[in-house]
Amino acid sequence: MRLPARFSPELLRHVPRKPATVMYPFVPVEAPEGFRGKHEFDIEKCVGCGLCARDCPSGAIEMVPDERTKGKKRPVIHLDRCLFCAQCEESCPRGAIKLTKVYEMAGYKREEMVVTAP
Ligand code: SF4
Ligand code: SF4
Repeated sequence: MRLPARFSPELLRHVPRKPATVMYPFVPVEAPEGFRGKHEFDIEKCVGCGLCARDCPSGAIEMVPDERTKGKKRPVIHLDRCLFCAQCEESCPRGAIKLTKVYEMAGYKREEMVVTAP
């Protein structure tokens, strides 16, 4: 097949290059450093102060009672409302919330879209 003359140099330039596309989801892709993905919550560090909920710009954090935190409340993070701004991580004085590189968090129900203590 004869290629049109104006496309040939462009096409040939790309032949030896690696593909620009990736095989995700068949091959996992590592998120870059600093990526703000799904939260990790450590109830052992949490003192129930509520600063994370107070500072969350989208109202994605709900404080709920938990007997493990000695009568204090603990946060429940609603991922379906979250902007992934990392303000909660910044505001937490105990380092109890960390945003991770996890980006796969689809769910069929809103109840599945939460991060809290196990
Ligand atoms: S990342 Fe931002 S929007 Fe999401 S829960 Fe934390 S403070 Fe709220
Ligand atoms: S996660 Fe941090 S900011 Fe939020 S209630 Fe617990 S200690 Fe306070």
